[in-house]
Amino acid sequence: MSTQQPSIAIIGAGLSGLACARILTKAGLKFTLYEAADAVGGRVRSDVVDGFTLDRGFQVLLPSYPEARRVLDYEGLKLRPFYRGADLFYKGKFHRLSDPVNHPSDAVKHSRDPFVSWMDKWRTLVLRTEVLTTRKIERRIPEMETEDYLRDFGFSEEFIDRFFRAFFGGVFLEKDLRTSARMFLFLYSMFSTGGAALPAHGMQAIPDQMAISLPPGCLRLNTPVTSVRAGEITLASGEIIHPDHVIVAVSEEVAASLLPDAFGEKLLPARSTTCLYFTTDLPVPETPTIYLDGDGRGPVNSACVLSKISPLYAPNGQHLISASIIGAPSSEELEGVVRDQMAAWFGESAYLWNHLRSYQIRYALPESRQLRLGEGPLPAVLAPGLYRCGDWCEDASINGALISGRRAAEAVIGATAT
Ligand SMILES: Cc1cc2nc3c(=O)[nH]c(=O)nc-3n(C[C@H](O)[C@H](O)[C@H](O)COP(=O)(O)OP(=O)(O)OC[C@H]3O[C@@H](n4cnc5c(N)ncnc54)[C@H](O)[C@@H]3O)c2cc1C
Repeated sequence: MSTQQPSIAIIGAGLSGLACARILTKAGLKFTLYEAADAVGGRVRSDVVDGFTLDRGFQVLLPSYPEARRVLDYEGLKLRPFYRGADLFYKGKFHRLSDPVNHPSDAVKHSRDPFVSWMDKWRTLVLRTEVLTTRKIERRIPEMETEDYLRDFGFSEEFIDRFFRAFFGGVFLEKDLRTSARMFLFLYSMFSTGGAALPAHGMQAIPDQMAISLPPGCLRLNTPVTSVRAGEITLASGEIIHPDHVIVAVSEEVAASLLPDAFGEKLLPARSTTCLYFTTDLPVPETPTIYLDGDGRGPVNSACVLSKISPLYAPNGQHLISASIIGAPSSEELEGVVRDQMAAWFGESAYLWNHLRSYQIRYALPESRQLRLGEGPLPAVLAPGLYRCGDWCEDASINGALISGRRAAEAVIGATAT
């Protein structure tokens, strides 16, 4: 029996590749992690611009994600929670929806707001109770679209349009709510149990924390891989490497181009998002919450004063505001239209905000099947010595990416043990 260590290549240092790398490290296996970009994180990256921390697209961690709880050190991330609820802008003013368990006095205070009918309030409570008391509730319903599920559950069209389309449309990056109701229930239970949070120093802290425990020298940044097959990878530099095991940990789109023969799935268009960042030293709303477009007129679906979630997102005395749009509109007037909407929401001072930077993320989430939890994960093994992981193999979330990385690592460990 050979005592020589197998050689292993992981392609992509997003959350799935990092999760895979960490488990291989724990198993005592050596590997090289090839990353095309100049830092780890993939779709979870942040930039520091003029002292402001800008996540590449508005995104949050749901601390209840089971795999994230296993993998991440939340204390080290210094998680800063969002208010448990949302402020919905509808017919000229904000209406606060508060989680009755976490903010009982707010819930009582706003309970007489006729914006939400008593029946919808009651249904919300029933749904909350069901997701909290039923283990893996998402596995117990037939596969259907979220919109149909909400209708069947008895929510009014008004409440679906005003609240669910804005809140979960922002999560799914599609407002038709065609995403699987199973994914919806999974996320609803995650929001209900743990809310949403940001690492104090920005989302990049998540991949940075995962990378810190990797063995020295295993990570090759700025090293795109141009082709892959079992037993062989080619780098953009022309270098050819012959690893015993190759794990492809890239987005669905890149996987389809790197593995045209082994890909197998039909590639659907991805879901996009655009985020405009503004800064100001003028007063901003105090509540660390998410502000939603209840009117549904857009273009901004949600806004957030990030410096109220974590003051470290902005220099002292300054504020950072994100305005998020579903899709990737290309219009020279976009900034002006967004400002008009923000002025309607937060007052004329929005016209004085400084536009710091915009991010247009064409590939933010994979479409369709990867958001259908019911279909189950894609197998990690493509061929002997060839593996895949990534959110598109599991479900399109931080949690899904982490699970898929673990599953690929377990498959490699299993193969090297035989
Ligand atoms: C704007 C936005 C908001 C989001 N919001 C949330 C949220 O609130 N909550 C949530 O749970 N999820 C959210 N997500 C989804 C979540 O970020 C992703 O599901 C997850 O990060 C995907 O990780 P991954 O490892 O599968 O893929 P990726 O992050 O895409 O990682 C793939 C890596 O491979 C590298 N790579 C690509 N090509 C090559 C190559 N040829 N050679 C070498 N390396 C290569 C890439 O540079 C990248 O680092 C959001 C995503 C975006 C973009």
